[in-house]
Amino acid sequence: MEKIAFLGLGNMGGPMAANLVKAGFSVTAFDPAAPALAQARQDGCATADSAHDAVSGADAVISMLPNGGIVKELYLGARGLLQALDSKTLVIDCSTIAASDARQLIAAADERGIRAIDAPVSGGTAAAAAGTLSFMCGGEAAPVEAARPVLSAMGANIFHAGPAGCGQVAKICNNMLLAIHMIGTAEALQLGVDNGLDPTVLSEIMKASSGDNWSLDKYNPYPGVMEGVPASRGYSGGFSVALMLKDLGLAMDTAAGSATSTPLGALAKNLYQLHGGDDDNRRLDFSSIQNLFRRPAGD
Ligand code: NAD
Repeated sequence: MEKIAFLGLGNMGGPMAANLVKAGFSVTAFDPAAPALAQARQDGCATADSAHDAVSGADAVISMLPNGGIVKELYLGARGLLQALDSKTLVIDCSTIAASDARQLIAAADERGIRAIDAPVSGGTAAAAAGTLSFMCGGEAAPVEAARPVLSAMGANIFHAGPAGCGQVAKICNNMLLAIHMIGTAEALQLGVDNGLDPTVLSEIMKASSGDNWSLDKYNPYPGVMEGVPASRGYSGGFSVALMLKDLGLAMDTAAGSATSTPLGALAKNLYQLHGGDDDNRRLDFSSIQNLFRRPAGD
């Protein structure tokens, strides 16, 4: 598998495509945004004028797109990519979308004799750049194994979660838990600060205690505590509130479908909705939920 078509060169897809080039794959990339295409050229990708042009002759197509509506529009229907792909092509959709949308895509591919898997990722933009993403794959074992060498060029962990759509289910379970511990971490830090503690000192204490968790350890939401995280650059970059809201919506839809009780997930979605009610906040990194708890200056 040498020739890869990469569709969607945003915060995640751009660095993922660059890592494929570094690993020696021949990558043809497409994104409707001109700056993303220019960056891809700098990173060593060939670029195409359309998704259809990009996939021509590709051994594998990787998509990293904002949502399920865009994924379905791209692949399905009379003018969708599935109609144009050779049956030898492997489709790897890395976007975070509803498990039902992933199953629909994989079933439609199967009808045309095309192998497809869902392979959403965890790790964020830093892991995308470092090539250390975790991939959670759903689909038959054979296409997941076929995808492994390609995914290994972009990630450190490749899990086969189960049949079609299971990668997406794993992803939203993880992100629901992420939202919950990010909110809990922000709330605990604010309680400490409002009662005279230095957030750095409190973070060190909780990291060595039973409150330790990924948000505290790797992605501290309190400004100035940790270098290199969005909280220390005005919550810019990273994983947006809008995308976290999308994932919490998918988690709640999935929970409704299986009649699973997810009270903390529902509360987390509510709090992110409150925070993201302001358009400017929706663009910020999700750790900006800290601002929901911070008192205005002088209060
Ligand atoms: P993004 O908005 O930065 O990038 C999406 C890109 O897709 C944009 O450049 C857009 O122009 C392009 N695009 C839109 N329609 C297209 C089409 N028809 N053909 C080709 N390209 C098209 O989003 P992102 O942060 O890179 O996230 C991408 C996916 O990864 C989402 O599903 C998101 O939920 C998931 N994800 C993101 C993160 C993160 O930290 N940002 C982490 C894990 C998973």
